[in-house]
Amino acid sequence: MAAPQPKVLVVEDEPAQREVLAYNLEAEGFAVAKAGTGDDALMLVEEDTPDVIVLDWMLPGVSGIEICRRLKTRPATRSVPIIMLSARSEEVDRVRGLETGADDYVVKPFSVVELMARVRAQLRRTRPAAVGQRLEFDDIMLDSETHKVFRGGKALKLGPTEFRLLSTFMEKPGRVWSREQLLDRVWGRDIYVDTRTVDVHIGRLRKALSQHGGEDPVRTVRGAGYALG
Ligand code: CA
Repeated sequence: MAAPQPKVLVVEDEPAQREVLAYNLEAEGFAVAKAGTGDDALMLVEEDTPDVIVLDWMLPGVSGIEICRRLKTRPATRSVPIIMLSARSEEVDRVRGLETGADDYVVKPFSVVELMARVRAQLRRTRPAAVGQRLEFDDIMLDSETHKVFRGGKALKLGPTEFRLLSTFMEKPGRVWSREQLLDRVWGRDIYVDTRTVDVHIGRLRKALSQHGGEDPVRTVRGAGYALG
């Protein structure tokens, strides 16, 4: 398996539209969560933060604009990209949508191909390894398209779990990941794995990264977890 699958949340009250979006996003290889109301959307985000949110403006109850405003004011969800969908095409609405903090704005009816391109564009920023970007950190280079890792120009042998761990680290160098967060991202939350398993694979990753020499770039942060650099 490649870099951990990006998670996309679709918030749309019209079932047919919601299913078309979900179907196409799944076909792109994304994990999709679906919500039909604003309240459901907020609950799902709380449970499991997505990598991108596709959000309909017109929803019963809490409107898309209000959800966007709330998510963009919370530190935990501020950086999650939001693509707003709207039947309104007036320039003033577009401006209002973007002012609420939406990262992109698509007017209905839209082409699915275009929307997928917009989703990928947001993921290139937040989940580069997941959309086939090449990542670099110091002398380490990870190519998520060919699944190859090089250090100082030399190819490294890495197991699939170590590859996923390294892509997670390389997407956000310096970020400290707890064992639980790594389990969620690398193994998936539906699988029961002991947190000690994380330590075992971190050990293997460290060994793999220094198979041609070089310092250990993985930092253990006591009581918190692990970071790259
Ligand atoms: Ca709607």
